[in-house]
Amino acid sequence: MIKNTGIPSLEQIKSKFPDEVPVKPKAIIECYQEIPCNPCATSCPFDAITIGKDINQIPRIDFDKCTGCGSCVYSCPGLAIIIANVKNEEAVFRIPYEQLPLPEVGSIWHGVNRNGEVICKALIKSVLKNKNTDRTCIITVIVPKQFLYEFITIRCPE
Ligand code: SF4
Ligand code: SF4
Repeated sequence: MIKNTGIPSLEQIKSKFPDEVPVKPKAIIECYQEIPCNPCATSCPFDAITIGKDINQIPRIDFDKCTGCGSCVYSCPGLAIIIANVKNEEAVFRIPYEQLPLPEVGSIWHGVNRNGEVICKALIKSVLKNKNTDRTCIITVIVPKQFLYEFITIRCPE
């Protein structure tokens, strides 16, 4: 139960993904509880995220409108949004990251699940940090595609 553990079930995770495995990058919004928050919706240049008049409502995404641009990822104060898609045998993620040290492009880090367990190797493809992303880095990570619904973040291997 997410209320007791803070960890969503596989069913809850899948409910945040498109029905079909995403071949194009799509925002996965793992916001499960009603809180007064809406930067994800106001930051989306394509009006793909809706919260509505009641700011406490859980955000809903229209995957047809989502271009995978990533604006919502660094706008979310809860680091609750990632971008994901599958290409050939790889799952490609863009994740928010606010820890140091930052990974080096080309390095292999640990891929970690929502329980904090290491589950796979994670190839660091890019590290984006600029004035738009403020103090949140956007890391592009590649993991084997079978971890599409398990991978959530990276951990330094040292
Ligand atoms: S990735 Fe871009 S288009 Fe998709 S929901 Fe986020 S801000 Fe909107
Ligand atoms: S900005 Fe993040 S924490 Fe706030 S409602 Fe959107 S997804 Fe949830």
